[in-house]
Amino acid sequence: MPAELIDGTAIAARIRGEVSAEVATLKATGVVPKLTVVLIGDDPASAVYVAGKARACIEVGMEEDTIRLPASTSQHELMELLDRLNGDSSVHGILVQSPFPRQIEPGAVIRRIDPAKDVDGFHPVNVGKLFAGDRDGFVPCTPAGIQQLLRQSNVTTHGLHCVVVGRSNIVGKPMAALMLQDAPTANCTVTICHRYTRDLGSFTRCADILITAVGRPGLITADMIKPGAAVLDVGITRIPDATRKSGTRLVGDVDFEAARQVAGLITPVPGGVGPMTIAMLLRNTVRAAQRLAAA
Ligand code: NAD
Repeated sequence: MPAELIDGTAIAARIRGEVSAEVATLKATGVVPKLTVVLIGDDPASAVYVAGKARACIEVGMEEDTIRLPASTSQHELMELLDRLNGDSSVHGILVQSPFPRQIEPGAVIRRIDPAKDVDGFHPVNVGKLFAGDRDGFVPCTPAGIQQLLRQSNVTTHGLHCVVVGRSNIVGKPMAALMLQDAPTANCTVTICHRYTRDLGSFTRCADILITAVGRPGLITADMIKPGAAVLDVGITRIPDATRKSGTRLVGDVDFEAARQVAGLITPVPGGVGPMTIAMLLRNTVRAAQRLAAA
């Protein structure tokens, strides 16, 4: 029997509905949650991502402000802007869209954002809280979204072996930390694999939950999946496809059609993990507004 599909679009829509209700409650107390996004330069993909985030904020009733800076912006100018936003009580969430121009040091940018407004969850304070199991930090949006997909799909994760392929700071590492926690929809035995892992299949075949965040189409083939496993594919790669009007399509890391015959649960690409990332960004922003209003 083919695997059950995890419908990320439907689950994300449910979460956006919950966020809308929380925004309305905050607004009734005079607080309008606001996300400020800083976009440096004119990378077309970044512009598309930022527009998507702005639209999503407006749909749930939040305020959104995109500050567009030229590619020539200096590190000093950016730091000054972040200091201003940190001190502005009408701004609850701050996000600086990556990639950054060469003269900007990404680590310095992340460290300059007030951890209480770091809705991406990348600041070392929030990273530390996640690893320490302190639940009042912000969890990066994509891993938080994947955990929600597991929760909403009623996967009992306790004691299961979760294998995460990819060790980036935005997905792989925080994902592993999240599934390791002594918490609901966690308590897994966790293995992290990466580009230097030898015999990747020997690890993935042991996974009850397989989460792959690499960006290499076809990396995970059906014979690398344990029968009945939950497979969550974070990878997004655009490949040529002459059958499409656009001439391209998006694929994940998993050989989807073959994997579907082996897995128990699986996310499609697109429509799986992707929609959850923005939903969790909205949720983090509303949490920031709730906490700053209560402080
Ligand atoms: P990254 O490029 O920073 O890291 C890729 C990781 O893959 C590295 O840790 C590397 O060690 C590992 N890797 C490379 N080749 C490998 C191999 N052969 N075997 C095992 N591991 C290997 O990645 P990222 O920023 O975490 O993004 C990964 C993918 O997820 C990309 O396709 C990206 O577009 C996608 N992504 C999707 C979302 C979403 O919302 N759905 C969010 C973030 C990233």
